[in-house]
This record gives sequence, structure tokens and C-alpha cells, in this order.
Amino acid sequence: MSDLARLGFLRPTEMLRIMDLGEKLVAERRARLAAERLLELKSRELFAANRKLSEHARTLSDEIIVQRRVVESATSAAEELRGENVRVRSDLKRATHAQTVAEHRLWLALETIRDGFAIYDSASRLVVANSAYLSVFDGLEEVGPGAHARDILRIGLEEGVFDHGDDTPADWMDSMLDRWRGDIIEPRVIKLWNGHYIRLVDRRGADGGVVSLALDITDATRREAQLRDARTKAEAASRAKSAFLANMSHELRTPMNGVVGMAELLGETTLSEEQTLYAETIKSSGEALLMIINDVLDYSKLEAEKLHLHTDTFDLERLVHEIAVMLSPSAAEKGLTLSVDYDLFLPNMLVGDRGRLRQILTNLVGNAVKFTEAGHVLIRVVGAGAEQGRQKLTIAVEDTGIGISPEMRDHIFGEFNQVEDDRNRKFEGTGLGLAISRQLVRLMGGDIWLESEPGDGSCFTFSVDLPIAEESEIFAPRLPVPLKHALIVEGETVSRALLERQLATIGIEAVMAETVTEAMQRLADGPCDVIFADAPSATAPGFPAPGDGGIPMVLLAASTRAAEAALASKRYTAVMARPILRQDFFDAIEAVVAAQPAAPVATAPVEPEEPRRMRILAAEDNRTNQLVFSKMLKDVEADITFANNGREAVEAFGELRPDIIFMDISMPEMDGKEATRRIRDEEAAKGLRRTPIVALTAHALDGDQEDILAAGLDRYLTKPLKKAAIHGAIAEFCPAFAPEEARAAS
Ligand code: ADP
Repeated sequence: MSDLARLGFLRPTEMLRIMDLGEKLVAERRARLAAERLLELKSRELFAANRKLSEHARTLSDEIIVQRRVVESATSAAEELRGENVRVRSDLKRATHAQTVAEHRLWLALETIRDGFAIYDSASRLVVANSAYLSVFDGLEEVGPGAHARDILRIGLEEGVFDHGDDTPADWMDSMLDRWRGDIIEPRVIKLWNGHYIRLVDRRGADGGVVSLALDITDATRREAQLRDARTKAEAASRAKSAFLANMSHELRTPMNGVVGMAELLGETTLSEEQTLYAETIKSSGEALLMIINDVLDYSKLEAEKLHLHTDTFDLERLVHEIAVMLSPSAAEKGLTLSVDYDLFLPNMLVGDRGRLRQILTNLVGNAVKFTEAGHVLIRVVGAGAEQGRQKLTIAVEDTGIGISPEMRDHIFGEFNQVEDDRNRKFEGTGLGLAISRQLVRLMGGDIWLESEPGDGSCFTFSVDLPIAEESEIFAPRLPVPLKHALIVEGETVSRALLERQLATIGIEAVMAETVTEAMQRLADGPCDVIFADAPSATAPGFPAPGDGGIPMVLLAASTRAAEAALASKRYTAVMARPILRQDFFDAIEAVVAAQPAAPVATAPVEPEEPRRMRILAAEDNRTNQLVFSKMLKDVEADITFANNGREAVEAFGELRPDIIFMDISMPEMDGKEATRRIRDEEAAKGLRRTPIVALTAHALDGDQEDILAAGLDRYLTKPLKKAAIHGAIAEFCPAFAPEEARAAS
């Protein structure tokens, strides 16, 4: 009900009407209020929504900015990539092109070469091959890329491309396949149907494939075969030459023996001066010819490499001494002194080829004497250290002769080379000696060289390195030697200096005098334990001699012969013959030590038990030589029996019991070596004393000496027979019988 109605002012109808209106107003107000509230709510919501929206819009716009930047950078990166891609693609194109060109060139090159080239894959299938490789299979279609190596071999063999030589085809095939299977494939030469030779060089790569080269070596092989052929022929020729020379030398020597021997005998008969000259010329020419024959023979053998060294234990000092003694007369004839300076402390026994060392030294010393007019020749042997049982040696031959100019120093070591100038032309010789010496020294592992001052002299030196023999010893006196002072009275300068040095080595100080007057002065000047004097001084009247209780005196004799005579005189404490052997030197020192004061050295001559004539057996098939031999022994009180061959010699030995046998080596029926063996057997069987047997031989063949001594002979004399050598052998082996002259010369 409305407020007016409640107040009762209005009639009901009016009231009713008014009430209706009021209610309507209220309702409307209410509705308006509600609407207003709703509006307010909505507008608040709207506001919130708006704010949110604007926030959202801001975020979105931020995001959009970021996104846009990302897109921008992505776009530029894409742009860049696109550029790079283009570049790479063009590079690739260029590279591919270059590779194609290179491949093309390589292939062109492989096509151009005459040798075959191919590549196989790991399954042994041909990948590619050049035309040269395929050309040998010309017309065989199966051989090409894809073909198996085995099939290529088989087809080649079946079609006769490959020449299997002496092998059966199956063996050839097997060996080729075996080879192929290896990791490392050995090169192999095969022959083709057309006579060409191909060297196959295959290499397996890491992937198991094989690179194959087929090199055509036909020309090289042909040349090689030609060379081999030529060499074989040359060698055969050289052998023939060598054999020819060896035979010739033998054939020439035998008759020359007769010539030289007879000439010597002829010279001993009563001849006019002119005839003597002729006889001597025949003899010396014959000897010269024999030397030349030997040189040529040696040289040809060295050339053909047929000359071998024969080593044996030997005493180098003795060897040097023998050469010095042998060449002393020719040196003395020219007024030269020939001295030896031998290292005091070298081992005495070495192992080497004595004969060849003798040859080298004889040649060097012979030359030195030949090319020296005045002064001296000195052989110097010096140890240059010993290692592992080997002795290094330097052997020098020094002279004061014409010398050799620098430009000739190599030349003279060549064969047939001599110095050709005015001073030299007058000397004879083959010009082979030094060539042979050099080759021999080299064969011994040494070297030879020359120092020389034209006009002043030459010094040829060679070095060798020889094993020291087991039985070797080093001589040395018991040191210290209880002698301090020595006096050397010696006219010859080199010998004097050598002796002084040797004495100094064992601690003896020496003073020197050239004359007796000078010597007496030196004795007055100071103390002296021993005097070394040469013969003229030692025998000078009034010179102190040990016999009178004075100072011990050692005689320096000019030769062995003089030494023996001096020894017999018992005037001296000791006697040394020049050149002085180390043993003699040490013996003399010991004698002096023992003889303080004087005690002369005694020698007891060996006498035969029962005087009788000497029995000599000579085996020699050649009548002329028998004659020469008996003539040479005509001064000897002896019965000479000749045997015409080895068999007769053995028989004669049994009947005769000779004191010495001279044995020719080459004889009919039984040679000298065999005969000697039988005689030695007989001696052994019957317990007989060893009979000295001396070989006489015309052989200049290498190895002979060795063989001969091995057969049981004691000495070796080469023909032509020399009276002195034969007498020397008698004196050596049968001293009691020795002819006077031989005894003195030995
Ligand atoms: P040959 O003596 O037979 O001529 P070699 O080969 O022994 O032959 O010597 C060659 C050359 O060397 C000699 O001819 C000589 O000219 C020279 N010769 C050798 N040794 C000497 C030396 N000691 N002094 C001077 N010249 C020498």
C-alpha cells in the first residue's frame, strides 16, 4: 500500500490509483538504482579489462619488437649463408675441374710411358691399366677392366704371351700366384713371346689393392748379357794368358839355367880379359832375363787375381837382415852403406807371406841402391802399435839418391812406368817392380807411399798389419842393464847414430868418436863401461882392449865373415856383424855385463866324429845341369852321386846314406817332392837322423815354395844354380865338411 493510502487521505479508488503510481515509482527507482549499480559494476569491469588489455597490448608490442629483431638477424644470416653456398659451390666446381685436368694429365702421362701400369682392387680385379700394359694382350678381349689377375695370367700363358722358360706352365703359374698372394710382392722378371724382358714391380696398398708396374728391361738385360759374355771371354783370355805366362816362364827358365850356370863355370876357367867380359855378360844378361820373366809372371798373376798370399810364421828381422846382407855387396861396390834400424821391441815371430814381403823389400832396397850414387840406404822397421794379437808395422826404405819429382810420384807405381830423364835413363829395369810391390802390399791390406826430394833422396814406406805368431817373444835384456856409459868408435855415421839410439833405449848413454885419437880423448874425459868399435879402430895399436883387464870391447864387424874371424881371435868381449841383429845386440850386452871385468867369449868348433869324405846325392834329370852341378862342387872334397829321377834318388838314399841331398823338383817318373816324402818315411821307419834335403827348382810358380817345404824339404834354391848358394847350403847343413870359402861366407 502507498504512503498516502496509509495516511487515509484518498478514497479507496483514488487511493488505489495513487497507490498504483507510487508503487510504480518505487519500482522504477529501484530498477534505476539497480541499473545504476550494475552500470557502475560494469564500468569498473570495463576499466579493469581495459587496463589488462592495454598491458597485454604493451607486452605484445614488446614481443613483436624482439621477434622482429630475431627475424631480421635470421634473415641476414640466411642471406650470408646463401652467399657462402654460392662460393663453395663454385670452389667445388673449380676443384672438380682441376681434378679432372690432373687426372687427365696423369693418365696421359701413364699412356705416354713405355712401361705398363695397372691398378687392381682388393679382390684382384683389374680396375684400370694403361695401353702399354694391355698391349701385350693385344686382341684378347677378356683382358680388361674387371678381369681377375689370375685369369689374366692364365690367358696370357695359354695364348703364349708369357714364356714360361724351363718351368712347366703349371709351375710357372703357381710361382706367379704365390708371389701375388704375399703382402709384400717381390719384383720378378718375366720373358715375353717376343724375347722382351719385363720386370714386374707390384705394391700392395693398405686397402688390399695392388698397383702394378711392368718395366721393359729388355735393353738393359741384353746389355748385361753382352757384358757378362764379354767378361767371361776376357776372363778366359786372361786365364789363358796367365797359364801361358806361367808355362813360358817355366820353359824359359830351364834352358836359361844351363846358359847362366855354364857362363859362370866358363868364367872360372882361364880366359882372356875379353873372354871373361863375354862370359860375365852372358851370365848377367841371363840373370836379368830371369828376373824380368819373374816380374812379368807375377804381374800377370796379380792382374788375373790369381796371386794368393801364403802365410806362415816367420821372423821379419831375419828376413830384413837377409835382404840387407844380400844387397850389401852391390851397395858396397858403389861405396854406399846399407843399414837396418829395427825396432828393438817388436815381437820376433809374425804371420805373413814371407816370400812376398821379401819380394817387396828386395825391390825397394834394390831400387834404393840402384838409384843412389853416394851416401846411404837405410831400412827402418818400426812398430806402430799392437792390437788384438796383431802388430802394425811401418817399413821404410830411405836413400840419399837422385830422388823423384812430385809429378812422377804416382806415375812410377804404374806398370812399365819409369822416370824418363837424363839421370834416370842409364838405369835398367822393367818398370814393373813398384807396380807389383804396390799390388802386393794392398793384397796384404796395407798401403805404400813415397816421400822424395829430387836430388836429396827418396823414402818408400809401406804399412802392414800382421798377426803375431803364438810362439813369438820379445827380446829384451834383463833391465835395468848395469851399464851406464858407452863409447862408440865408428866411422860410419848412420850405423853410429843407430847404435847410439839402441843403447839409449836400454838406458846406456853413449859418447861418440870418429877416430881413435878422439876415442882416447873421450876415455880420458869420463867413465866408460863398454867400448863399441869398428874394425879399423879396434885393431889400432895402443887402443885399450879388454884382454888387458881394461874396458870390455865389442867389435862392430863389417860382415859375418869378419865377425867370425874376430870371434876366433878371442880379442873381444863380443862381436856384432853389421847390420846388427837384435839378438846379437842383446847377447853382446849380456856378454859385456857378464864380463865385468873381462872374460873373452869362447867358441868350440864342431869337428866330425871320424874324418871321411862327404857324401852328396844330387837328383837331377838334366845332363847339362848335372854337369854344371859337379863343376860347381869341384872344390869340395866330396863323393857326388847323381840320380836321374826321384825313384833312383830314393834307392840311392838307402844305399848311400848321404850327408846332404840336392833334389830337383820336376823329374820324370817320380818328382822331387814324392821322393822326399819317401825318404822322410824311411828315416822315420828306421829311426835315422834327418838328412838335409835342398830343393833345386826351375819353377817360378806360385805356391811352389810352400808345397816344397811342406813335402819335407829343408831349403829351396831356385835355378840357375849358384855356386855360392850350393856351398852355402853345405856349410849350413854340414858345417864340418864345408869348403873353406863357403864356411867363411856363411
Ligand atoms: P824398375 O826399377 O824396374 O824400372 P820400378 O817399378 O821398381 O821399376 O821403378 C819404377 C821407376 O821408379 C824406376 O825406373 C825409377 O825411375 C823410379 N824409382 C824407383 N825407386 C827409386 C828410387 N829409390 N830413387 C829414384 N827413383 C826411383
